[in-house]
Amino acid sequence: MNKEIDINKIVSKLRSVLPASCGTISLHEPSFKGNEWKYIKECLDTGWVSSVGKYVDEFEYKLAEFTGVKRAVAVANGTAALHICLKLVGVRDNDEVLMPALTFVATANAVAYCNAVPHFVDSEERTLGIDPFKLKKYLAEISEIRAGACFNKKTGCRIKAVIPMHTFGHPVDLDPLIDVCSLYKLELIEDAAESLGSYYKERHTGNFGKLSALSFNGNKIITTGGGGAILTNDEELGKLAKHITTTAKLPHKWNFYHDMVGYNYRMPNINAALGCAQLEQLPFFIEKKRRVTENYKKVFSGIDGIQLFQEPKFARSNYWLNVLLLDEKNAPMRDALLEGTNNAGILARPAWVLMNQLPMFKDCPHMDLHISEKLEKRLINIPSSPELS
Ligand SMILES: *Cc1c(COP(=O)(O)O)cnc(C)c1O
Repeated sequence: MNKEIDINKIVSKLRSVLPASCGTISLHEPSFKGNEWKYIKECLDTGWVSSVGKYVDEFEYKLAEFTGVKRAVAVANGTAALHICLKLVGVRDNDEVLMPALTFVATANAVAYCNAVPHFVDSEERTLGIDPFKLKKYLAEISEIRAGACFNKKTGCRIKAVIPMHTFGHPVDLDPLIDVCSLYKLELIEDAAESLGSYYKERHTGNFGKLSALSFNGNKIITTGGGGAILTNDEELGKLAKHITTTAKLPHKWNFYHDMVGYNYRMPNINAALGCAQLEQLPFFIEKKRRVTENYKKVFSGIDGIQLFQEPKFARSNYWLNVLLLDEKNAPMRDALLEGTNNAGILARPAWVLMNQLPMFKDCPHMDLHISEKLEKRLINIPSSPELS
């Protein structure tokens, strides 16, 4: 079973599917071959570069249309989107919010911005995301329902919400997670920052949470330079999300009247213009990215000791970042493999350090995390830009 890996062979397999390049091949590069120049030039020519302009509305409309949600609200970045999702589901001081330990730091930071506490849960090998069955068992042990809310028996704090994160574009098993949410009175927020273009059982990710967050950072599947969006199927919450992210100003010809503490989390029109051009090409990017994965699948199918991670059965993934998983026995070879690929001009990277190992979150509650720990040691990301197809 657990055969040893041959690093030179893996590097040459990667080389064989990647285009010849004189520089380093990065993990994910943006591609601007559509209407980017045209739309941005129009912003400059008309002067509408900032917080008002037609592209913000158009981008929100087209995002909602693509993902199938009732309302999308464009914001400054994905972290800001998560922050507002948490506020709007009612996360307050000292609440606990369940989330995977294996995620990008933004998920946990957004919880900290609410003076709430991240509570880390384990992932499963099938999806690389939250394991809903393990979570259910865990909550049965550590929590109790009082007055319609879930409380951590150990800390005494309310457990208000859960944030599944669709790791590298692969959807979490949402149906059983939704059951856990209704059983334990938890609000569901999807961190869909990596999963634009990914579907769980034919429905686009971001449709399952009360609110969900997207990111359009430079390395994501489409980019607005920096940016994010809040998705929701609740029209009232959608209106509120727009209001609170645009300084909570009441519309008026000249008065500055704000009816609550709002945030300046708007996406500027010039970024939205870039987003509109990118969104037009999204189906094309997904197609190309799936072709990159197919190429990797071909060359890695017969290789000992390492596997290309593939989408869960119930999902259609955007394959944002492709993943190679070392067999357990080969985990100690990970850094040597990274050394080998990087020396060969192929940027490969490990997964994030687990959130419970970062200094600011080391005292946060967590369940047994042994699957996340194993995954983190075995996983590397390999170049996945659409242009590599
Ligand atoms: C990219 C990303 C975010 C949001 O990042 P921003 O840089 O703030 O747009 C949030 N969560 C995850 C898992 C991400 O990968």
